Amino acid sequence: MNIYDIHTHHHPGEAGTAIVQLTPDDIYLRPEHRYSVGLHPWDITSDWRVQMAKLHVIALHPQVLMIGEAGIDKVHGSAPLELQIEVMREHIQLSELVRKPLIIHCVKGVDELLALRKETHATLPWILHGYRGGVEQWRQLSRAGIWISIGLHYNEQLIHTLPTDQLLIESDDTTAIDSIYEQIASATSIEVSALRHHVSDNIRHILKQSSVPPF
Ligand SMILES: [Zn+2]
Repeated sequence: MNIYDIHTHHHPGEAGTAIVQLTPDDIYLRPEHRYSVGLHPWDITSDWRVQMAKLHVIALHPQVLMIGEAGIDKVHGSAPLELQIEVMREHIQLSELVRKPLIIHCVKGVDELLALRKETHATLPWILHGYRGGVEQWRQLSRAGIWISIGLHYNEQLIHTLPTDQLLIESDDTTAIDSIYEQIASATSIEVSALRHHVSDNIRHILKQSSVPPF
């Protein structure tokens, strides 16, 4: 089964075609679906250590393909920046421990993200989801081993620069994966079927570096 939606908060019509995001308080794995598990920076509260313990329990499950979304949000984060970074460090450790890539939510925190990548010597791929930044920042992230995933809103120049072997597409909190593909297809003049093919190949490539058995 090919995955062509790398990050969503909704179960797809066809099981296994998307990586569905679950929070520690709401972990219920439906048969055949694929998941990421993490504590979103909007959801950090004083019991975050308990939440992390729950993630440790579920992280090794074979239907869990990635850790996250976790990260830094200087605009909407529920916790002080220092705590967000501490929780992010815990996710990085978990990702390295179970050998599963990390999906990242980052608003105005790219400098901190790059510093964490360097400081932790993380080896697993990271995917910065909902990327709206420009070409120069993408190059900087890419050099550091951080992929980007794009959804409904993206930088026009970036979409024309991004090579197809770097392309990841997501629906996030929308249910509009098909229309997002159509929009990117018309912007890039690449057919939807070819785009899906590239994205699922890229996801397969990312997962090859992890402990998830090949599919
Ligand atoms: Zn999300």
